[in-house]
Amino acid sequence: MVRASACHAEGRGFKSRRSRHYCSHVMYFESIMEEVISRIESDSNTAEIPIWAAIAVNDEIISISGNMVEQQRSSLMHAEFIVVLEALQKLQTKYLCEASLYVTLEPCVLCSSVLEKVRIKDIFFGAYSPKTGAIVHGARVFETSLHKPNIIGGIQEERCSRILKKFFDNNSEYVDDTMN
Ligand SMILES: [Zn+2]
Repeated sequence: MVRASACHAEGRGFKSRRSRHYCSHVMYFESIMEEVISRIESDSNTAEIPIWAAIAVNDEIISISGNMVEQQRSSLMHAEFIVVLEALQKLQTKYLCEASLYVTLEPCVLCSSVLEKVRIKDIFFGAYSPKTGAIVHGARVFETSLHKPNIIGGIQEERCSRILKKFFDNNSEYVDDTMN
């Protein structure tokens, strides 16, 4: 696994690690990320900025959602925040030490802090967000936190970026505060 600092230092080269254990786990996280991305592509709700997230335990998704900022009329309803709340509710626990978070965009400072609070085990994300990301950009929440999850960024990065770019190109009323 690549931690935040290593992830940053090595650029986006998580594929350079080739241990047998690592490769078998790559298959799991790539297949779960595939499921998350496919939800965006089949989501007919074009009002939301297309970011989806999932929580998985033992490589099984227990919670999956897109952003619900527009539907809930709340700027707090980021996909990561929603799936964390759902997972806590489902598992009837206050921590997610055995759970993995999957999200199509580098989490913002709000969501990164939430993930730190619930002691998430792994964070897998797709596109990097130089403007609002808080993992390898901005606040770099886990560089200073006591809790250190495993973090891998850049999974299907181009595809996740393309989805966001297309959305902002087609919806000029939204300001792209995520990407370059
Ligand atoms: Zn967020």
